[in-house]
Amino acid sequence: MEFPAALVNALRQAQRVSALTGAGVSQESGLRTFRDAQDGLWAQFRPEDLATPQAFQRNPKLVWDWYAWRRAKVREAKPNAAHLSLVELARLVPHFILITQNVDGLHQAAGSPRVIELHGNIRRVRCSVCGKPHSEWDESEAEVPRCNTCGGLLRPDVVWFGESLPASELDTAFEAARNSQIFFSIGTSGVVQPAASLAYYAKQNGALVVEINAEPTPLTPSADFSFQGKAGEVLPALVKVTFSKQ
Ligand code: NAD
Ligand code: ZN
Repeated sequence: MEFPAALVNALRQAQRVSALTGAGVSQESGLRTFRDAQDGLWAQFRPEDLATPQAFQRNPKLVWDWYAWRRAKVREAKPNAAHLSLVELARLVPHFILITQNVDGLHQAAGSPRVIELHGNIRRVRCSVCGKPHSEWDESEAEVPRCNTCGGLLRPDVVWFGESLPASELDTAFEAARNSQIFFSIGTSGVVQPAASLAYYAKQNGALVVEINAEPTPLTPSADFSFQGKAGEVLPALVKVTFSKQ
């Protein structure tokens, strides 16, 4: 795979690099993106209709079961070459910040030292009323498990459509975008706000914006470099070309 010398040289010299990842990064680990059709039991539902506070209010059991099914898939999944390249970048770049919209925890499983999770993590569960985190709950029950303190229904610790993002993560992400010399947008359709603004904000503040995605996105025309392909192929190739001994 060929990469422009301007990008390779910039990456080799950069002190501050950030990357924003989306569901496309986990696609090669066998996890579906939201834009892929769902399979099996869940094919009749749109994710956008399940990942909302209204859906949980209307039918908590349906939403809980969908997340339980996704959680099981996530636990079976293994990090892929894209996740591992991002671990490498954290080692090779003096200041590297990884920001993800993914809720699957695969960056941490791969060994990324610090991950800014904008949309929470499906492996964690908290009370929908008092917020108390729960590390154990009974998955076999016919009803949605309840909080052992206030009796409220438990829910996944993720950000649903219409909910606000965790403030400190969001601040850290915008600060990273502002300070970056290179900003990667990888495997994200760039339509879910406010994460989608990060790349533009980085560019306004002088970063080179590099997109790696399976297909063009709204960001593509604004990116300084755009690579259409699989994250698990493009990213390892770029890291190798940039950092292997010349
Ligand atoms: P998205 O589904 O909107 O977009 C994924 C993008 O990745 C698409 O443009 C697709 O063309 C591209 N893509 C697919 N396979 C790829 C590959 N192998 N390499 C590179 N690109 C590839 O996902 P999003 O932008 O992350 O936003 C959707 C929301 O869905 C997020 O809020 C996220 O929290 C949630 N989500 C998370 C997971 C997960 O944690 N694994 C899975 C599904 C959805
Ligand atoms: Zn509670």
